[in-house]
Amino acid sequence: MIDHRKLGRELGIFHSDPRSGAGLPIWLPAGAAARHAVEEYLRDLERRNGYQHVYSPPLGRRELFELSGHLGYFADDMFPPMRVSDDDELMLRPALCPHHCLVYLARGRSYRELPLRIAEIGGMYRSERSGVLGGLSRVRAIQLNDAHLFCALADVGAEVAEVLRLVDVAHAALGVRVSGLRLALRGPGSKYVGSDASWELAESLLRVALADRSYVEAAGEAAFYGPKIDIQVADAAGREWTLSTVQLDFDKPARFDLSYIDASGERARPVLVHRSLVGSMERLFGYLIEAHEGAFPAWYAPLQLRVLPVSAGSAEAAAGFASAAVEAGLRAEVVAEESLGARIRDAAGSRVPYVAVIGEREAAAGEVSLRVRGGRELPSMPVAEALRLIGGVVAARSHELVP
Ligand SMILES: [Zn+2]
Repeated sequence: MIDHRKLGRELGIFHSDPRSGAGLPIWLPAGAAARHAVEEYLRDLERRNGYQHVYSPPLGRRELFELSGHLGYFADDMFPPMRVSDDDELMLRPALCPHHCLVYLARGRSYRELPLRIAEIGGMYRSERSGVLGGLSRVRAIQLNDAHLFCALADVGAEVAEVLRLVDVAHAALGVRVSGLRLALRGPGSKYVGSDASWELAESLLRVALADRSYVEAAGEAAFYGPKIDIQVADAAGREWTLSTVQLDFDKPARFDLSYIDASGERARPVLVHRSLVGSMERLFGYLIEAHEGAFPAWYAPLQLRVLPVSAGSAEAAAGFASAAVEAGLRAEVVAEESLGARIRDAAGSRVPYVAVIGEREAAAGEVSLRVRGGRELPSMPVAEALRLIGGVVAARSHELVP
């Protein structure tokens, strides 16, 4: 059975070291290259759909998390405070919302700006017990593809529906297969904030957004501030994880006293929608490594092209082709040592989508012979045509390596 912890190590995606600590993975160059491509895609998708990106620090004063309610309702999942001076304590944040509420408060807001969609792929920290930590699926340092939508109550339904649409778009590009949708509701107990009326309203809005989809209800799985839609995926062992999520929150806008001036000039309170299209980079890649067995679509493959000169006579042509590929925006490298057969096997083991073999005949003709992951060999073609083919597949984010 595929296990992302083993395959992720073999492919140089990430590394764990007890000196760094459990649940604190280090992204190696191959993982960082793939993640960079995915993050760039997500920011572009969000930008095209009306999101604005910010950067905010992964820690803040204790008072910020008292205000947000995290210390009252979520403290067990947070690391202890760091005392800076007698009257100042800093805490690692367990979520990005407190900072994004401060973004909202950075100036006065008018109804004309709503929905205001504030996005960030940002760091947050959770004090998970060491026993539950494993590979990338559950970690203590989390980079979340997060956004907070501040909107008028009347716009909540359309915003949630639009988030679900964008989740579908991102999943199709990445090759994520959903195992199910879950409407996470309040359970018994006092770990929830807010009035019954606001919980009921939030639940009914989410049910409307889910009307044409099939889902299960899960009592007791809501966030402490509101119900949510969780979009689940299954790993190779059949365990379910929440990847994407949409959550409704009437509580934080009240705690942070968020307001805007409505069309009639009155002060009004926005609703907060928390959403993640693909979850954290860690859990996403834990899933993608297993779902694709390491063979990522070309657009986010760590290395997209490996160039193999057959002998010293074609080394110069191979170097020229690889640098033209890098210049064209591709991730490419030359490997010249060892026998050609060993190098082709190694490229297959590394799941490189394209391997270009250049012998002296190809070098003289200005051509390359492309082998596509899976073993298919294409007839020799001019170098410019090979770059067009690979560049086209990458630009289209196609999952097919040959158009
Ligand atoms: Zn949030």
